[in-house]
Amino acid sequence: MASREEQEAEALRRFLGIGLAETTAKDSVKNAKKRQALLEVISEAGVEDGCPKAMGALLNSVATKCPAKALEHRKVVARYVKEEKIKTNAQLDGALDYLKSLGTASLDLSELEAASGVGVVVSVEEIKAAVAQIIQEKKETLLEERYQLNLNVLIGQVTRTLKFADGGCVRSEFQQQVEDLLGPKTEEDVKAAGMKKPKKAKAPKEKSTNGEKNNEDSSQKNGSSEEESWRTADPFAFLPKPEDNHQVHTTVNFSDGTVMHVSNTEEQLRAHLSETGGKVITRFPPEPNGYLHIGHCKAMFVDFGMAAQYDGHCFLRFDDTNPEAEKMEYIEHIQEIVGWMGWTPWKVTYSSDYFDQLYELALKLISSGHAYVCHQTADEIKDSRQERQPSPWRDRPVEESLRLFKDMKNGLVEEGAATLRMRMDHKNENYNMFDLIAYRVKFAPHPHAGDKWCIYPSYDYTHCIVDALENISHSLCTLEFESRRASYYWLLEVLGLYKPHVMEYSRLNLTHNVLSKRKLKALVDEGHVRGWDDPRMYTISGLRRRGYTPAAINTFIREMGITRSDNEVPVHRLEHHVRMDLDAASPRVMAVLRPLQVIITNLPDDHYEEVVAQRFPGRKGDTYKVPFSKIVYIEATDFREVDSKDYYGLAPGKAIMLRYAYPLQYVDHKKNDDGVVTQVMCTYDAEFHSAQKNKKPPKGVLNWVGQPAPGVRPMRIEARLYDVLFKDPSPSELRDAWRDGLNEASEETLKGAMGCPELRKAKVGDRFQFERLGYFCVDRDTSADVLVVNRTVTLRESFPKFGKA
Ligand code: ATP
Ligand code: MG
Repeated sequence: MASREEQEAEALRRFLGIGLAETTAKDSVKNAKKRQALLEVISEAGVEDGCPKAMGALLNSVATKCPAKALEHRKVVARYVKEEKIKTNAQLDGALDYLKSLGTASLDLSELEAASGVGVVVSVEEIKAAVAQIIQEKKETLLEERYQLNLNVLIGQVTRTLKFADGGCVRSEFQQQVEDLLGPKTEEDVKAAGMKKPKKAKAPKEKSTNGEKNNEDSSQKNGSSEEESWRTADPFAFLPKPEDNHQVHTTVNFSDGTVMHVSNTEEQLRAHLSETGGKVITRFPPEPNGYLHIGHCKAMFVDFGMAAQYDGHCFLRFDDTNPEAEKMEYIEHIQEIVGWMGWTPWKVTYSSDYFDQLYELALKLISSGHAYVCHQTADEIKDSRQERQPSPWRDRPVEESLRLFKDMKNGLVEEGAATLRMRMDHKNENYNMFDLIAYRVKFAPHPHAGDKWCIYPSYDYTHCIVDALENISHSLCTLEFESRRASYYWLLEVLGLYKPHVMEYSRLNLTHNVLSKRKLKALVDEGHVRGWDDPRMYTISGLRRRGYTPAAINTFIREMGITRSDNEVPVHRLEHHVRMDLDAASPRVMAVLRPLQVIITNLPDDHYEEVVAQRFPGRKGDTYKVPFSKIVYIEATDFREVDSKDYYGLAPGKAIMLRYAYPLQYVDHKKNDDGVVTQVMCTYDAEFHSAQKNKKPPKGVLNWVGQPAPGVRPMRIEARLYDVLFKDPSPSELRDAWRDGLNEASEETLKGAMGCPELRKAKVGDRFQFERLGYFCVDRDTSADVLVVNRTVTLRESFPKFGKA
């Protein structure tokens, strides 16, 4: 029998394994009743070895919410969660309500499934219609109160009618329709929102820089802010307002109980203000060690966006302190892609521009006793850090360190033989106060600074100093840097430099993706994709090649809001935004992905006419022509040998409508030796248009293309269709085995697709809606012979194949 400690440790392991936050997991272990219930649910679901976080959260709800009198049925619900039949809180609530209502009756699976919406797919059209209805009902109030109206209440009404609709899509649709009605937010709206909800707009309190404490703060915030942030009028509401600009008051705690009070002196403030005129100054600081990804779009939105919002300036700063990983290719790419995303840097700088000043400051740091040259190896540093033991060189004379540091700079010290370390607080419970490395010897040329240096400063040493030298007023970074606040302020304080505000926000993660340059580089280097701009990658260049627009990406980020809550956002939420954007801006055109030949038997061989098609629905006069002749092509998937009631395609005995042209009536079809249908014979109704008033067109309206001249094949298209790159919803959770989550079938290439002559004018990067097939973007692999297109996104959201897509 395991001891109580062992049992509790095992319970904690399981709770963390299903992705519960540490505090929740620990609380659940402490509460015996809760622990028992959750352990049972975990084994009922069969996830003793862990599961994705979202699933874990649902299982946790099963454990806490299952009605006591229905415990015998709990395992069914737990299994449904495991099998991803139940994937949302709304579904789970439906299931638990059903269990509650059961009384003594026995469980009926089909009733349970109906109550919890298993397999229900709510289409975008249904969402659009439901949203339109509520907006219509509330139109007057909306026009009056504009963005001050609590939209969450209205959204709640939609989600009550469309119980199992995706919450994110409902919100996005809501925002879109509200914006269509009211126009974009005006300054007045933003101001009014700030006045109405002072709490939201208020700057967060200054707090201690001690890492551990801050983490607690962030977990407290998580619960409440997420929901609010979705529709906040000001996505930067959580950031300090510019008027608080210069009042940094924070502390750094030391292990001996002393406290360093950190704030800007009057002189520092005066110098800062005379340089900046009090403007908001931010920086976007990518390391040029790879291509940027969609997570960086969030960082740019925060850095450039905040500067723009307050009429300030934002630097693009290449944080280039690690020459071995960095390349000119990446520098050039980053500069270009920042512009493509719509941001204009105030200045482009490099951390390496400051290498001279950084070196001088290092000498100053040594001279004041705040740094020393150390000869410990990386492993020794790691061990002594574990044991919180000081380096044996920590107290060596200043003169010796100065001499050795100069030797390092002059190339007299071997790589790995010495580092410069900051003399911080080796016993501090925050590891980032453990005498961090400031400089390393590296005999490597630098992509920007050339071969001038053989010592390179570390991120921790460089970042804060360059922030101060560039007079950054707000240094915004992602949460993993929070525990480095202490060292950030410590260094600026001991060097007597200006101290910016530091604020953290959560990283963006997308389901079915890895967002780390290191992993993205591995995908490229190992040939899992065809390059950094492979359209399956969520690099910005991949998204661009696939047909995403900067507007869609930025709207997606704005909608998400900038908060400290961890977010792993379903990838289809991004797709929703691009769909909305492309719907408005992409001309429609006729194409066929998997062509099936149709011979129109009542047309002469040399018949040729052109029918008129609309480029945009409802925009009369904006038209193009589609050839119609004896041979046309429809989608192979639009023909079936056996008809059925709910099927609107072509089948024996049936008629369909060729979009913008004529009805076709089935006559016969041919198959090859393998039983594959190769040709369909039909007749067309030449009188249809003249007699249209009396005739009802067939229900099924198909996309098609016709031969542009007798005997000439329609334009050749190679269509590349994409699915998620990872079938695992959270590949990073697989840790080192993240590659196992790859989806082998993430790309399908259809080389035999066809298009109408309108597409001949298409240039690389042009975007179209292929009628009924989705949004497509012309790829740079296009040649004179073949138009290569990438499918950006399908027309409608379909039920994800792999869990939470
Ligand atoms: P990666 O792990 O992808 O290399 P990084 O943080 O090392 O990411 P940098 O080039 O150093 O990337 O980042 C530039 C800025 O972008 C930093 O402020 C960083 O915090 C931010 N950033 C990076 N990834 C994300 C993300 N997924 N979401 C939000 N911001 C991000
Ligand atoms: Mg990095």
